[in-house]
Amino acid sequence: MDESKGLALALEEAQIGYREGGIPIGAALVAADGRVLGRGRNMRVQNDNPILHGETSCLQNAGRLPSSAYQGSTMFTTLSPCDMCTGACILYGISRVVIGENKTFLGGEAYLKQRGVEVVVLDSSECRELMEKFIVEKPDVWNEDIGVEERVYSREGIKASSK
Ligand SMILES: [Zn+2]
Repeated sequence: MDESKGLALALEEAQIGYREGGIPIGAALVAADGRVLGRGRNMRVQNDNPILHGETSCLQNAGRLPSSAYQGSTMFTTLSPCDMCTGACILYGISRVVIGENKTFLGGEAYLKQRGVEVVVLDSSECRELMEKFIVEKPDVWNEDIGVEERVYSREGIKASSK
């Protein structure tokens, strides 16, 4: 599948997520023959679920598949995959990860490459602008999703102790 078409599916999921009040990250898994195996979006807010990121939600929606289904497949994602999603892509032997943007967050791209996964960054301004808008609107939800909430708490701890 054409890279921009695959990314468009992922971006559509991200936009649905944004309209639902969720974290606007989407993904689509496309097989070697171009069939769309699954699509998904971050469901932290909608489902109160900390492990349904764009990519893991997509893998869940694709369902239980034989390992051969992942061979030659591409995970399209609007944002550079976090450590959890990087691990999931490696675990299932996904061959290629096509990323919308990695300016607002840089995930496990180096590790993907090290493990033989092809990584393509499309540098999409649409993906970046959607994330930037969301991060400005809901910084606390974003920090929670990328696991940096404790840094916020520790900063508050410093403020409190200096009083
Ligand atoms: Zn993730």
